Amino acid sequence: MRIEDYEPFVGRSTVEELRLLAEKLSGKVIQNINSTFTGGGVAEILGRMVPLLNQLGIDARWDAIKGGNEFFNVTKKFHNALHGRREEISDHDISIFMETSKKNLAEVSLYGDIIFVHDPQPIALIEKKGEADKKWIWRCHIDVSNPDPRVWEFLRRFIVAYDTAVFSAPSFAQELPISQVLISPSIDPISEKNMELSQETIEGVLRKYGLTSDKPMITQISRFDYLKDPVGVIEAFEMVRKSIDCQLVLAGGTATDDPESDKVLSLVRERAKKNPDIHVLLIPPSSDLEINALQRASTVIVQKSIKEGFGLTVSEALWKSKPVVATAVGGIPLQVKHKVTGLLSHGVEGTAYAIKQLLSNPDYARRLGENGREHVRQNFLITRHLKDYLLLFITLEHGEDVIYL
Ligand code: UDP
Repeated sequence: MRIEDYEPFVGRSTVEELRLLAEKLSGKVIQNINSTFTGGGVAEILGRMVPLLNQLGIDARWDAIKGGNEFFNVTKKFHNALHGRREEISDHDISIFMETSKKNLAEVSLYGDIIFVHDPQPIALIEKKGEADKKWIWRCHIDVSNPDPRVWEFLRRFIVAYDTAVFSAPSFAQELPISQVLISPSIDPISEKNMELSQETIEGVLRKYGLTSDKPMITQISRFDYLKDPVGVIEAFEMVRKSIDCQLVLAGGTATDDPESDKVLSLVRERAKKNPDIHVLLIPPSSDLEINALQRASTVIVQKSIKEGFGLTVSEALWKSKPVVATAVGGIPLQVKHKVTGLLSHGVEGTAYAIKQLLSNPDYARRLGENGREHVRQNFLITRHLKDYLLLFITLEHGEDVIYL
């Protein structure tokens, strides 16, 4: 990828501006740290963001902490609890978290001028702050609008030691004694996940997964996670299917830092097995082109999440001018403006009703999809995200000085 490849989407001046900002960071090392190189939105974004920063001449790198199953079981509980789900977190869980964090504190080399820590798994690395003059950012990708107070209090101890915290949506802002920045995630229009595809490629992927293009296809792309409510999608689909001949695709993979996904996948398979119109596809990591093709082949794209950090899949669908039905959680309402760039729905019946509305009004569906693409072009492409990050890095490095472009 080259930075100038984005000019057709966002114009030359936007790209020029990125170059000017990047110059102010020359010689600085930005070290990103998360907990997995594959699976989920964070890995998705870092996989694009880090090379693009490099393209702009910034030495950005990406490391992942290590942890065993026990550790990821605990951090998954944290994740669920931050999303507001009730979780029993024992003292033993906390000691597992602390032990693995201690190992990572000993093993992870902190070489960056800016240490950019993503989500709770590596959060305790902040205990090494103070060993050198580094700036520390905690980037929260989770919907923390209503977190379990115990888990939030536990993590807060670490968060307050960071120089700044970044959240994805205004409703996630917290009472914190450190500065907070709101930066929405983004998608990359020239990645394999989002680039234009030929009809031939799309049909090849459909054939591979035994799907037909002769009936409307309703799709949800998501990791198999309770919070994505795949069973709710099946229930909504079954209601739609009573009056409209269509097929459902639930496609997703598992993430190495999510121990629950196998259980959810078997539950979904069990629930779907009697209905030949429901296709549950387990997609291996790095299947970006296939996901792109499935999204492009879809008539309606659903994101029926119960909680959502941002919901990159929504922007991915809108960018492909697809009509979207999604729940109004997390960052989704930033992307889906009801009846303008898609439909927001509540519950199984509401979702079924919205899908039916779109399937029976193709002109309306097309209009929503077109508006959606323009909304993403203006707000959720990686160039906007890059600019926000560059400004944040510059502010951290240069204190409160005004930035002149
Ligand atoms: N994704 C993927 N393979 C899958 C499931 C999802 O590549 O099997 C991608 C999806 O296209 C999106 C990201 O992973 O880019 C998921 O991000 P999102 O914000 O929607 O949800 P998260 O998984 O972070 O909760």
